[in-house]
Amino acid sequence: MAHFVIVGAGECGARAAFALREKGFDGDITLVGSEPLAPYERPPLSKGGSNAAPEPKFIAALERYREQSIDLKLDTTVTTIDPATKTIGFSEGQTLAYGKLLLTTGASARNLPGANGASHRIRMLRTHADAVALHAALHPGRHIAIIGGGFIGLELAATARTRGADVTVIEGLPRVLKRGVPEAIAEAITARHRLEGADIRCGQAIEAVREEGNRAVVRLVNGEAISADLLLVGIGAQPNVALAADAGLTLDNGIAVNERLETSIADIYAAGDCCSFPLALYGGRRVRLESWRNAHEQANLAAANMLGEGAEISAVPWFWSDQYDLTLQIAGLADDATVHVRRDLDDGAFILFHLGADGRLLAASGIGRGNAIARDIRLAEMLITARAYPDQTALAASSVKLKSLLAA
Ligand SMILES: Cc1cc2nc3c(=O)[nH]c(=O)nc-3n(C[C@H](O)[C@H](O)[C@H](O)COP(=O)(O)OP(=O)(O)OC[C@H]3O[C@@H](n4cnc5c(N)ncnc54)[C@H](O)[C@@H]3O)c2cc1C
Repeated sequence: MAHFVIVGAGECGARAAFALREKGFDGDITLVGSEPLAPYERPPLSKGGSNAAPEPKFIAALERYREQSIDLKLDTTVTTIDPATKTIGFSEGQTLAYGKLLLTTGASARNLPGANGASHRIRMLRTHADAVALHAALHPGRHIAIIGGGFIGLELAATARTRGADVTVIEGLPRVLKRGVPEAIAEAITARHRLEGADIRCGQAIEAVREEGNRAVVRLVNGEAISADLLLVGIGAQPNVALAADAGLTLDNGIAVNERLETSIADIYAAGDCCSFPLALYGGRRVRLESWRNAHEQANLAAANMLGEGAEISAVPWFWSDQYDLTLQIAGLADDATVHVRRDLDDGAFILFHLGADGRLLAASGIGRGNAIARDIRLAEMLITARAYPDQTALAASSVKLKSLLAA
């Protein structure tokens, strides 16, 4: 009987295992993960306003794995893949044969150059264990410093302020979210953080980071020192590719896969944060996404293709972030956009449409309270999928329903 093995029991790996069963696969499924906890969702780790440390939000109860005959091996790291014998090896030395293999090894938080692991006061955030340690320090009277004004750093800043801790965010670039969103949205989010009392410092070069006594101290090139009870290093993530590299799989900003999530070696697939793939919607441009929805979509696609469906990636990239009561969403890839059209909605919410030089809608990003922008971003996604060239005056006018542009 066919044996499908999935390495990486996170968002993508767990969803792929269930998707295989939903699609009728009745062979053996083994899902292997390094972490001690059953697969859980990562987005809540940096968010939330309550005082308790985050309880893991499990993707499924353990009984469901048993009911679906998914052999879940936790606290187990795969150390080798031998494509010639179609076996994987574990750190304890045992091996396991596979018919098809799916790599969903995710990504790891990037550390400061030259740093060797995390310490008690200098931490990163990727796992539930990281979150428990961080959240324990989010109290009034505590000072949290955060290196990096990216999504995770800013979300943790919002959570820390909501819980009464003092917060300083240190960003090297001239503004926060430089790689993620356009300036107008970064300005709106920065203004809100400042209103809430967070100290956001952009354009700051760091000279050294050290633990001094019971403090974490960040020395800036301008001579200033920021002393905190705890420091979060939030400078992005890097794909976990060592296993794939040792097995001889082609890498290109992650494990390189084609539009069917096939790697360079037969019967080995990769999906989620660990892989880069071509997006036909953007002329075959190769991207790697670190996004919850991408992990879901690719889990389903990988399962379909392991069963021989030959389906291709077609989804529009989509990402969201929650900070205070604001939600920010981005659909599509905005990098090649030359024109921004702004649509103002009620209560300060707004959307920016990113168009190419030829007028094609490439991306849309927006910010607003709660779900203020959700509907328009969803419709923008449909326009992006349709490769639409929408009328710019109509895009800007909130009185014109985006649905009518879709029909046009
Ligand atoms: C704090 C935080 C907040 C986030 N918030 C958002 C958000 O608001 N919106 C959004 O769209 N996305 C968000 N994300 C991103 C989203 O969670 C990821 O895109 C998603 O988890 C990717 O799923 P994955 O399965 O590819 O990787 P992961 O969830 O990283 O899972 C990979 C798993 O593989 C395991 N593994 C790796 N190597 C091996 C090995 N050799 N053997 C066995 N196991 C192995 C790892 O331990 C890990 O458990 C957030 C991420 C974090 C960390």
